[in-house]
Amino acid sequence: MVTVLNRWFVVAKFSQLVRRDPDPVRLPSSAVHAKEMGSLSTACGIPCETWPKWWDRPFYAEDWERCEDCLAIVERG
Ligand SMILES: [Zn+2]
Repeated sequence: MVTVLNRWFVVAKFSQLVRRDPDPVRLPSSAVHAKEMGSLSTACGIPCETWPKWWDRPFYAEDWERCEDCLAIVERG
């Protein structure tokens, strides 16, 4: 199950630099969507080629505000 869910990582339309020690980090500043490696759109069908991506962030593990449609699709597998 975990391997299936791990296919999905986080993208968001907007991001912001947040001051952190020692380096600032870029975090989503809008709802996050799920995206599969190699896909040009989010799980819910929005083109997201130009959006910032967090490849190291599995979508299911995030506590950021998540897209309900993406969440439903990811949970369905
Ligand atoms: Zn979505």
